[in-house]
Amino acid sequence: MKLLETPQLTPPAPDYSEHTLLTPGPTPIHPRAMRALTRPMLGHMDPEVFALNRAVQADLREMYGTGPETFTALLAGTGSLGMEAGFANLVEKGDDVLVCANGSFGRRMAEMAARYGAKVRLVTAPLGEPINPADVADHLGSAQMVAVVHGETSTGVLNPLPEIAEIVRRSGALLTVDAVTTAGMEPFDMKGWGVDYAYTGAQKCLSAPPGLAPIAISERAFARYAARRHPTPLWYCDFSGLRDYWIEHTYHHTVPVNLHFSFAEALRAALEEGLPERAARVRWMGRAITAALAPLGFSPYVERPEARLPTVLALRLPDHFDDAGVRAGLRQREISVTGGLGPTAGLIWRLGLMGEAARPAPYRILMVALEDMLDAPGLVRRFDAALESGV
Ligand SMILES: *Cc1c(COP(=O)(O)O)cnc(C)c1O
Repeated sequence: MKLLETPQLTPPAPDYSEHTLLTPGPTPIHPRAMRALTRPMLGHMDPEVFALNRAVQADLREMYGTGPETFTALLAGTGSLGMEAGFANLVEKGDDVLVCANGSFGRRMAEMAARYGAKVRLVTAPLGEPINPADVADHLGSAQMVAVVHGETSTGVLNPLPEIAEIVRRSGALLTVDAVTTAGMEPFDMKGWGVDYAYTGAQKCLSAPPGLAPIAISERAFARYAARRHPTPLWYCDFSGLRDYWIEHTYHHTVPVNLHFSFAEALRAALEEGLPERAARVRWMGRAITAALAPLGFSPYVERPEARLPTVLALRLPDHFDDAGVRAGLRQREISVTGGLGPTAGLIWRLGLMGEAARPAPYRILMVALEDMLDAPGLVRRFDAALESGV
């Protein structure tokens, strides 16, 4: 056996700090959230943890735009657990549930509602288009719950939630909202709109590590829960179990305390920046990226400007564009960009503008790489100029 002349006994540790994460979730972790992860462990029944949880609950009410009567909490799982907990607690066998499904997350809602025994009816829309509130009104019938995804990540479509909520409110049905791509990045008006159950995921608009689902439950939703004929089959997220821990401070299950530390910082950072300010930041970034890429043949995928989801910029690719090849080249340069999903694969890119992704620095790295790879002189200059002018 031939020995290496200079054996490398300790290979250098990989450096992940340089990665540019532009996916529509997860998002780059906020530095404050990152630092909080190193905080020494405390018990889930520690008074200091209960105090931190109380602060998180108050901050979540602010994020969701609701009052002290609304129960807020973190579930120990990702956004999909937030989705599932709503159906598990608020739906019983035979319930009539109307789901607005104009993308893959709307369809996920429909599947979950059905698994908990609901008779599911769908309101759909053509690919890349928002749900028409008039269609919701037409199909409402005797629905006990209406479920809608505020911003559909799979297509970059923003559904007209205030208009849909207005229709649902008049009917008396419960309203469940997937706020994964909106809450925390812009004002959300749970109280004003009359939303009964809302959820998101920590790793989307708040730039915290994945593994927590912040939820909000209205008094009306709790009344529906209290009137159940049978307990929910999902013991882990039973609303009363959550109340036991978050309000009564009795043991239900061990919450991931380190994630709570981290999440609390990310949420505080978002509220300190301000939700209107974050909304303005996302739109400013979206305009600059769109303006910079337009001369290369990229164009907004969603036709109606008011139906474009600001936090997931869906851009139609130029003709004859090598989608897979370019994204693989970007990945070699430590830049992650997400393409389309299902029917939009190869047709669009979905650029994440949630949380810390919506900043000039990471997108400038993308522009530098694309200018080189696509031989597109002036791209970076256009991007900088667009940012500067704010147009
Ligand atoms: C990401 C996402 C989810 C699911 O969240 P996970 O954290 O992946 O479980 C649900 N709805 C929307 C709109 C999303 O973007």
